Amino acid sequence: MENKKEMRAWLDDLQLDHPLVIAGPCSAETEEQVLKIAHELKDTDVNYFRAGIWKPRTRPGNFEGVGHLGLKWLQKVKAETGMKTATEVANANHVKLALAHDIDLLWIGARSTVSPFIVQEIADALEGTDKIVLVKNPVNPDLPLWLGAIERLYASNIQKLGVIHRGFSTYEKTKYRNKPKWQLAIELQTKFPDLPIINDPSHITGKRDMIFDVSQTALDLNFDGLMIETHTDPDNAWSDAAQQVTPSTLVQIMKDLKIRKETD
Ligand code: PEP
Ligand code: MN
Repeated sequence: MENKKEMRAWLDDLQLDHPLVIAGPCSAETEEQVLKIAHELKDTDVNYFRAGIWKPRTRPGNFEGVGHLGLKWLQKVKAETGMKTATEVANANHVKLALAHDIDLLWIGARSTVSPFIVQEIADALEGTDKIVLVKNPVNPDLPLWLGAIERLYASNIQKLGVIHRGFSTYEKTKYRNKPKWQLAIELQTKFPDLPIINDPSHITGKRDMIFDVSQTALDLNFDGLMIETHTDPDNAWSDAAQQVTPSTLVQIMKDLKIRKETD
């Protein structure tokens, strides 16, 4: 598969004058929580409202999501705020349910990208969809696995594709939750310069006070957008509490970021 110009048509069609922003809680917790956050984000630069409802966790015993119940809440978000919606899918059944509930953007999580048969199952279930599909990098720093997932989705005739760079797990002692290893994202950009690439500073840093700096680095490297976990009560979030920001902090971050213009 070669780089294809039409890969970024879905993003260009949005005609944004700022980076694409996907924001919302790590996890949908309750209907009230989801709607409260969505209402606080609706008049901001946020383009897609995210909320995880199926949450594959590395170790058992953590909150693994509310499941298909959350799809109705996302539908309500769209009906009440007009925002488009996004969630993670981790198997073919999730895809079927998400498509049936008209979720606008689906992403494959880092723990799924590592598994070619899971990616293939998801790609088959998505065959020919006109929804946006984004692929997070695999948890481990393995570029071919990331490329392989993109190739499987492309072969399933999914036109609106993109990737999310969320950093890589490491045993090294580091200030990051997942090391960015920017070089891998740059290699991917070199291979597919027209494929939209979104940065996820929340999962890279694991800490809300580092999100601005990582976002700025991503924009300086020509990333097309940001996915930032946002919660009205971050400290009491059911997952990823330390890295979520409030809606007002998100607005401030977006205001302070220096956005690179094509002519720069
Ligand atoms: C998430 O986006 O909440 C998530 C679980 O991300 P990742 O797959 O990058 O760990
Ligand atoms: Mn998360």
